[in-house]
Amino acid sequence: MRQILHIDMDAFYASVEQNDDPALRGKPVVVGGPSRRGVVCAASYEARPFGVHSAMPMGEALRLCPKAIVVAPRMARYAEVSGIVFEIFGRFTPLVEGLSLDEAFLDVTRSQSLFGDGAAIARQIKDAVRRETGLVASAGVASSKFVAKIASDLKKPDALVVVPAGEEARFLDPLPMERMWGIGNKTAPRLREVGLRTIGDLARSDPRRLTGLLGSWGREVHALARGDDDRDVVPDVAPKSIGSEETHEYDLTSREAVAESLLDRASHVAQRLVREGYWARVVTVKLKYADFTLLTRRASLSEAVSDTQSLYEAACGTLDRFPLDGERVRLVGISTSEITDVAPGPTLFSDPAASKRRKLEELVNDVAVRYGDVGITRATLLRQK
Ligand SMILES: [Mg+2]
Repeated sequence: MRQILHIDMDAFYASVEQNDDPALRGKPVVVGGPSRRGVVCAASYEARPFGVHSAMPMGEALRLCPKAIVVAPRMARYAEVSGIVFEIFGRFTPLVEGLSLDEAFLDVTRSQSLFGDGAAIARQIKDAVRRETGLVASAGVASSKFVAKIASDLKKPDALVVVPAGEEARFLDPLPMERMWGIGNKTAPRLREVGLRTIGDLARSDPRRLTGLLGSWGREVHALARGDDDRDVVPDVAPKSIGSEETHEYDLTSREAVAESLLDRASHVAQRLVREGYWARVVTVKLKYADFTLLTRRASLSEAVSDTQSLYEAACGTLDRFPLDGERVRLVGISTSEITDVAPGPTLFSDPAASKRRKLEELVNDVAVRYGDVGITRATLLRQK
C-alpha cells in the first residue's frame, strides 16, 4: 500500500519572521507589502482569530486587526529556510514533489523498512523540522495525494493526521466539500444550490450530474470524493532552462537598444533563478528580426551564475556574433540552461564579486516582492555599458 505524506509548514512566512525576531512572538504578525493596497502574504496564528488571512487586502487586514504588526516579506530568507526543510524531506525519500516553498508531497512507500510506517516518518520529519529550523509543520498521511493533502490541513497547526488504508471514504465523507481544492467561492454555491454539502454528497452523486454542474472536471471531482486518486508523486527536477523574452512594440535599430533590452531580460532571468534557487552555466541570446528571421547564440560560462550582471555580460558578449548593422530587431530573449541547484563553491578561478552580486539579487528580489515588480533600474549597470 502506498504511503504518501503531505507536509505543510504552518503560517510559514509569518512563522519565519516570529522565529527570527523574538519581539514578534506571540503577536499578530502580518507579512505583506506596507502599502494599504498591498495584499497579505501570510498571517500568524495570533492574527487569524481576527479574520485575517492570506490574499486579503492589507487595508482590510488592518481594519480587522489594527494591532497587527506588518512585516515586509523577505523571500530570500524564506527560500533559505525552505532549503533546510526540503533537505530534511530528502533524508527520508528521494520522491519529494514541492508544491511551494513550504509544502510538499513525499512518497515514503519504500522508506518504511528503514524509518517505520508513514506516521512514524511524518513524526520524525516534524521533529527534525522543529529542531533544525524552530518551525512547526503539519502532516497528513494517507494512501493518496488527495487524502494526504486534506488530512494535513484538517487540524493545523502542529497536526499529524493519519488516514489508514481502507478508511479513505469514511474519512472524507463528513467533510465540507470546500475542503477540496478548486471548490471555492465560485463553485460551492452552485453545488449547495442543488443540495450538495459534503465530500460524501459528491461521492454519492451520479457522476453525470456532476459533469452537468462542473463540466468535464466533474468526473475527477467524483473520483476524488470517493478517495480514488492514483496520481504519483513526481519528484522535482531542475528545469531544463529558465528564460525571458520580450517582443518590442517598436523594432530596435541599434546595438545599444538591444543591449538595454538584454539588461532587462537578464534581470528577469536572474530574479527567477534566485527565487527558485538555481544557478545556470549557459546563456543563450535569441534575436528575432523584423523579417521574422530567428537567430540564437550561446555562451558557456566557467561557472554557474545567477546574478543580473554576469548574465548580462555573457549575453552582451554574444552580440558581436549577430548581424546588427542596419537591422531591425523585434524580439530579444535570454534563456539559461545547464541549470543546477548547487551553489558554485569558491575555486581558484571563481569570481569573488559574483557571490556579492547574488546577495544583491536577493535584495532586489525582496524589494520586487515588497513593492510589486517595479522594474528596478540598475543605474550603475546602465552606465557601464
Ligand atoms: Mg503552509
